[in-house]
Amino acid sequence: MPQLVRLFTMQPTHDVILIGCGCSSLQWLSRFMDTESAEQHQVLILDKNETPPDRTWCFWSKKAHGYEHLVSYSWSKIRFASRFGEVSHNIAPYSYQYISGRDFFAAADEGLLKQPNITRLTDEAAATQRVNGHTSVETTSGQFSAGRVLSSVPDPAKILQNGDPKPLSKLWQHFRGWFIKTSEAAFDPEEVVLMDFRTPQTDGAVFFYVLPFSEDYALVECTVFGEQLWDRFAYEEALRTYISTYITAEPYEVVNTEEGRIPMSQRDFRKLGFDGTEPLGTAAGLVKPSTGYMFLRSLRDVESRFAENPKAAVSPRFSFYDGLLLGIIEHEPEQVAGIMTALFTRNPVQRVFRFLDEESSLAEEIRMFATLPWAPFLKQLAKQTFQSKNPDS
Ligand SMILES: Cc1cc2nc3c(=O)[nH]c(=O)nc-3n(C[C@H](O)[C@H](O)[C@H](O)COP(=O)(O)OP(=O)(O)OC[C@H]3O[C@@H](n4cnc5c(N)ncnc54)[C@H](O)[C@@H]3O)c2cc1C
Repeated sequence: MPQLVRLFTMQPTHDVILIGCGCSSLQWLSRFMDTESAEQHQVLILDKNETPPDRTWCFWSKKAHGYEHLVSYSWSKIRFASRFGEVSHNIAPYSYQYISGRDFFAAADEGLLKQPNITRLTDEAAATQRVNGHTSVETTSGQFSAGRVLSSVPDPAKILQNGDPKPLSKLWQHFRGWFIKTSEAAFDPEEVVLMDFRTPQTDGAVFFYVLPFSEDYALVECTVFGEQLWDRFAYEEALRTYISTYITAEPYEVVNTEEGRIPMSQRDFRKLGFDGTEPLGTAAGLVKPSTGYMFLRSLRDVESRFAENPKAAVSPRFSFYDGLLLGIIEHEPEQVAGIMTALFTRNPVQRVFRFLDEESSLAEEIRMFATLPWAPFLKQLAKQTFQSKNPDS
């Protein structure tokens, strides 16, 4: 039977299929299972990997989000430092929270994924097709179909398609961190170092991030916003120098490492999704391009999808601000430390968090922009206005 005829006559194998069994799919599935008659739906969740991605999620929050039982650490203060100044903020009513991926996925394995109507399969989605009211998903081992297919994974074939030779992203947030155990008390367990720019600004905007789990145990991470990816040795040299200069001169042990890279891109990820699927998480463009934070943004998006009047996940006003900052990171990375210093030292941190959460009012944003160095933003504004009028230039 020809392929198209087979697709037309085929009965859906499931009611719902999720491509990717990561953060946003599990957030969505958990919310879906709270809806009436959810257990009558046969759900298939596909992931190409047997073991989940090894990562942790941090975010600031002042509201209940439903994952409190998985928060293993939280902090009440944040510190910001650069050669222009240093500040520590008490962030109440917010707290900075940490969820380990291991706990998040273990909880899903033990609860959500054990429901009799949910099947978790290790299999890779290769292509999809919308036919006759349902979407068929071709995988490495077979073919499945459902009326509703959601995907947190962009279609790899589309990333380089449509005559656009650009890779997924020009700019990356890339990082490598060490979990270190020091031989003496070296950290304030109440305080996260959110950004410390006191390091050479090589290949982009470079800063350190320190999450202290106790007085002698912390994750110290070297993060770069830039085009050029680093090899392991470059991070390690920067880490060694930072630790000996600002944390401890005494011996310490590297217990574990974390590394990753997150695209800092404003490409419309929703156009890169698998055909006939509803995008979630990364595929819905929910990793905030200017910061890389996604956990709560994706959760808000999931909540909104189940609400009576769903809201657009990405606001044009905040996309515009993200675009200006990405432009500065790309063309004048040496300005980033000064901008961040002004942001964190001249504004109440609660205002900064509301802005980064895209919950601030225009009046609040104007007050905040008045505290920042204007020149790089005006330069970017002029550049982007010119480019939008002369797209071929
Ligand atoms: C190392 C790292 C640290 C991060 N830390 C934070 C943080 O602290 N706070 C924060 O808010 N955000 C953070 N992020 C950003 C963001 O929250 C995460 O990337 C988040 O996991 C994205 O969720 P997701 O559901 O879109 O994708 P993922 O959680 O990455 O899940 C996608 C899943 O799809 C699977 N998959 C891929 N292709 C296919 C295919 N063709 N077929 C089937 N399965 C497939 C993958 O194996 C993966 O399991 C971090 C990102 C990284 C990389």
